[in-house]
Amino acid sequence: MKNRASDPRRLDVAAAVAEGATLQGTAPLAGFERLAERPSSAGDAPVQWSAHFERRPARGGAPELRLHLQADARVMRECQRCLQPVALDLNVNRHLRFVADEQTAAALDADSEDDVLALSGPFDLLSLIEDELLLALPLVPMHSQCPQPLPAAEPDAAAEEAAHPFAALAALKREPSP
Ligand SMILES: [Zn+2]
Repeated sequence: MKNRASDPRRLDVAAAVAEGATLQGTAPLAGFERLAERPSSAGDAPVQWSAHFERRPARGGAPELRLHLQADARVMRECQRCLQPVALDLNVNRHLRFVADEQTAAALDADSEDDVLALSGPFDLLSLIEDELLLALPLVPMHSQCPQPLPAAEPDAAAEEAAHPFAALAALKREPSP
């Protein structure tokens, strides 16, 4: 491929589609500012991605310009249960479609299963990859099983309090009736 078409930050989508290009790359997480959150952390893994462009014939119209995007990354967040770091594996597997302008994109996006993007000048593929990875983040990051037991104080105190009424009731029941 020519350089103009293969720079993922300034991609010539029309050329990539015409060539049926498949681009692949590995990029350090630190390059994705919105995703990395912190400059770097021990558990992070680089973003691995691949993008396959193709032109697909469409019945009774111009061929569709399509992109199949796959990306994997591992990011560190704080577990909302135990407040320890949790590694989150993110996987993206999306089919997208390029159209000529924003108006067409908006009209199609409503009733299409695929994401629809407007073609306008050089395309920032890595920014799209970051968008998709951000969408793959869980709203509430959490271990499926927290590595350490939670600090005992609060749950235990609550449990003891809950036990008291029954203990009092039991004590009453044990009192001999007159
Ligand atoms: Zn946890």
